[in-house]
Amino acid sequence: MQRTETALVHQGEHFNTTSAVVSPIFQTSTYYADNDLDIYIEAATATKHPTFYHRHGNPTNSQVAELLAHLEQTEDALVLATGMAAISTAVLAAVQAGDHVIAQHAHYSGASLFLREFLADYGVAVTFVDQTDNEAIAAAIRPETKLIYVETPSNPNLAITDLAFVGKLGKEHGILTMVDNTFSSPINQQPHVFGIDVILHSATKYLGGHSDLTAGAVCGTKVFIDKVWKRSLVLGASLSPFDSWLLLRGLKTLALRVRQINENALQLAQWLDGHQAVRAVTYVGLPSHPQHALAKEQMRGFTGMLCIELEGAGEADQFAKAQQLLGTLKVFSNAASLGGVESLIVHPASMWGGHHAVEQKTIGGIKLGLLRISVGIEHIDDLLADLAQGLAKLS
Ligand SMILES: *Cc1c(COP(=O)(O)O)cnc(C)c1O
Repeated sequence: MQRTETALVHQGEHFNTTSAVVSPIFQTSTYYADNDLDIYIEAATATKHPTFYHRHGNPTNSQVAELLAHLEQTEDALVLATGMAAISTAVLAAVQAGDHVIAQHAHYSGASLFLREFLADYGVAVTFVDQTDNEAIAAAIRPETKLIYVETPSNPNLAITDLAFVGKLGKEHGILTMVDNTFSSPINQQPHVFGIDVILHSATKYLGGHSDLTAGAVCGTKVFIDKVWKRSLVLGASLSPFDSWLLLRGLKTLALRVRQINENALQLAQWLDGHQAVRAVTYVGLPSHPQHALAKEQMRGFTGMLCIELEGAGEADQFAKAQQLLGTLKVFSNAASLGGVESLIVHPASMWGGHHAVEQKTIGGIKLGLLRISVGIEHIDDLLADLAQGLAKLS
């Protein structure tokens, strides 16, 4: 099997049927078909046919999917229009009315919304548990439990779910296990190694890596991916040709980017940890993280995601200081999303203000003074200098 760096550049190249070194963008909705109607019927009914009609598939989508299956060590994969398209179609392929799902208190906000507000409408019950509590996950199992849905490290509070425990629990009880691996990317974490069945990505983030596309991915067995594909087909969640091409281009440098980002983030976290204007730093790569030992067991790198809480006299003061810091930074920008080459800083309590229930914010650890940082590939000295000047101005 090819090593990761080589696979990122070459895996799935056979879907490029031209002699161009770089696969062209197949910017077309449909493809000339065979006039032999037996062959036509076969193409029309095939799963993920790459050259029939765009909602069925596209050569670049097939190429990216083959690469992602290789990276996540699963049998098959499917790419979709967004991370949320991947999450919703994958969950819909796993459950039906009467089934029960176990999920975490804290998930990406869109996933929380789907699990909390949408599944109930279709007769699917969900129990939300503390992701750091293995006993609580096991205790939530019912006879009708069909899915355990986890996210690690979670967004934004960076709590870790024990993947080996969840993978084993699922196997023992015949329950499908699914993980949102967006924050880690397959460079930092390969959940399949721990027995997790289905791996999801918002490819908008680290996989694409340049903040210029939206995409999602589901990785799993061929049988499961066929089911997800059918749902994507009828719900219309197919990934556009141009976004798919940008994703393929972005993926070539995934290993290089993630390595640099891991390095920058660790240095930044260590520096922030000793700063007098910062009350707390949450980074899974710091020994002070309550689950650092577990993170070391299941991750090969600690990502570019970190959270800080500023010093202040109470929450209102911390909030005012967070607001002030956002206004003084020059290299870090305030923007939603993460995982790109540029460093971003956001105020989660504002970003999700309208979507999260108060209970979710407190359990999920989204405090008013919390800032979430996505570290990019800029020079570390410029990142440190920017935060130093910003923090020095806080009053
Ligand atoms: C952004 C994100 C998603 C949703 O992805 P979109 O591409 O925006 O639909 C899902 N999970 C996590 C962890 C994310 O950060």
